[in-house]
Amino acid sequence: MTEDVHDGATLRAALTEIAGNFSFSWTPGARQLFAELDRKRFSELLHNPTALLSELTDGDLGRALTPEYAMKLGRVQERLEAEAERPTWWDAREGRPDGFLVGYFSAEFGLDESLPVYSGGLGILAGDHLKSASELGVPLVAVGLNYFRGYFRQRLDEGDRQVERYPRNDGARLPLTLVPMAPTVELADEAGNLVSVRIGVSRALVGRISLYLLDTKVEGNPEWARDVTNTLYGGDRLNRLRQELVLGIGGVRVLRRLGLDPSVFHMNEGHSAFFQVERMRELVEDEGLDRDAALERLRASTVFTTHTPVPAGNEVFDPELLRPNLAPLVERCGFEWDEFVELGKVHPDDAFGMTPFALRTSAFANGVSKLHASVSREMWHDLWPDVPVDDVPITSITNGVHVRTWLGGDLEGMLGTNTPRLERAFDLSDEDLWDAHRGSKARLLEFISRTRGAPGLDPEALTIGFARRFATYKRAGLLFSQAERLAALLGDRDRPLQILVAGKAHPADDAGKDVIRQVVDFARGTEHRVVFLPDYEMTLARRLVQGVDVWLNTPRRPMEASGTSGMKAALNGVLNCSILDGWWAEGYAPNRGFAIGGEGDPRAQRTEEEQDADDVEALYAVLEQQVLPAFFERDERGLPPRWLAMMRHSIAELGTEFSTNRMVREYVEKMYLPAHRDLAAVLAAV
Ligand SMILES: *Cc1c(COP(=O)(O)O)cnc(C)c1O
Repeated sequence: MTEDVHDGATLRAALTEIAGNFSFSWTPGARQLFAELDRKRFSELLHNPTALLSELTDGDLGRALTPEYAMKLGRVQERLEAEAERPTWWDAREGRPDGFLVGYFSAEFGLDESLPVYSGGLGILAGDHLKSASELGVPLVAVGLNYFRGYFRQRLDEGDRQVERYPRNDGARLPLTLVPMAPTVELADEAGNLVSVRIGVSRALVGRISLYLLDTKVEGNPEWARDVTNTLYGGDRLNRLRQELVLGIGGVRVLRRLGLDPSVFHMNEGHSAFFQVERMRELVEDEGLDRDAALERLRASTVFTTHTPVPAGNEVFDPELLRPNLAPLVERCGFEWDEFVELGKVHPDDAFGMTPFALRTSAFANGVSKLHASVSREMWHDLWPDVPVDDVPITSITNGVHVRTWLGGDLEGMLGTNTPRLERAFDLSDEDLWDAHRGSKARLLEFISRTRGAPGLDPEALTIGFARRFATYKRAGLLFSQAERLAALLGDRDRPLQILVAGKAHPADDAGKDVIRQVVDFARGTEHRVVFLPDYEMTLARRLVQGVDVWLNTPRRPMEASGTSGMKAALNGVLNCSILDGWWAEGYAPNRGFAIGGEGDPRAQRTEEEQDADDVEALYAVLEQQVLPAFFERDERGLPPRWLAMMRHSIAELGTEFSTNRMVREYVEKMYLPAHRDLAAVLAAV
């Protein structure tokens, strides 16, 4: 017993160290170390290693420490050490300028299911950006918000209506370290008086990268101020504005307290754009520049990534809401209030838009796929009325995903556990590749039967996955809009088909909630051939993108700026079947997956109804004539040869091209280093 306790304390120290860095989320074997301690509890705790450790006694841990467990622990520790010592891409790069540091700001970060401060693709992209920056060794520091109640949990009531629950994030049970400092941000109270609001700061480690998460739940702050960082995208416009002031202005002040001076600032979407005001104030007040020189310096050193053509995603604020909060700061920058407001407008009657403001104050701007960049150039052409639309300065860097986070265990084992080499997929035998895929599929079915109460799924059936936010433009209902045709496919006993659907509707989106209800209603009549899986989050996403056969995506082109879940599927050999929108317009080739409809002309005038009607026709044609035949065409070994060939191309080619390792390298070469050099040039000219 005492020996158990002694061993337990030693094991706790080792596991606490692993749990204290989000590298556990991509290091093979690391998460399993915690799962093995108490599988059921670990699953209930959303795979939160720190929380699990806090519930186990040293005695419990001591008993878990079998020789076999010790060996697994040793392997994980070796991997972490090897990773820390490995020379990185950045280390080996010629030309690493002095003082190069990127400050990366985002309103959400999706690092792991256990830290639910993300709501979807934007956050997970930011998380994957940090993971790849760590892997590549790029000097980068990240800033975000620490929401007290993060991403909501979803369940359905008896009427199949989405019900949201917002569990609290308990800081003591998260691998966050409090940073002892309390910078302040001035926020206007209800009477319009500025109040100094104190900011709490916690640090998360993401491999080599530090992420600083800010909150206002600090003692001494008035009640309304403490609530500012309560929920992700929660509250009214005023609260959202306050969150963005905390992120942008507070974020710069936190970096300064840490003694950090990024040479390049990157805003991942416009939510953080207020950091420009604080940076400008520093240049004017602390460095004595005049307003225009300060603006030039800001622009030269700022990168802005726009993420959506959906109007609601491009935030605007009533200038009168901004004024009491920002006017004093803006004045210190040498701006008249009205001049400042102009920076956020395209047309005179517009409200203050974060995207125009971000575009006007960044010399480097990009969309997240080639198609999206071209749509963005058109969308914001009025900001540069004198240049042809193709010369609007918004370039493209296509999104990616972090391979080591999303690649399934069996494939990882075959492609290289420490640094997976996806092109090795071409060397795998048909049998090995199919076995690996079937293993992932079995694990998915086991997982959803255990966690989502959905038994009765068929491992032999062609399994289609459709999981994403239920935003209107994503058209989750498209497949279900031809009920008879779908029923015919689902009733074919020779070619069994099943469809797994998951996703959350925005809490205020009643239309999205109605679509969920229609899907669930349809599913009820299909004897488990269509199943809605509640509570889509990163664990379910990981299982789905590794274990289904086909990843379906039917957005209304060109509204899907990039999409990233299809990339996660592709690198696992799950074939995409998608509208040629976002990344798939670049990634698709007939030997890598399936295209629904054609490229079309994005400027062609079709009503949404016409577009939906064309697309649903094309969707059924591709399912009936391409997807089902290819999957059920079997050779004498019972394997689908054409399908397996496509899986290889998908893994080796799409997996490499649409990785955040490629994406971050592109940000470094096309944006960060040029911005760093431009700033140096501006400084040299002074
Ligand atoms: C990857 C991911 C997303 C983004 O998927 P899209 O294809 O961009 O819609 C959203 N939510 C979760 C949980 C994810 O893992």
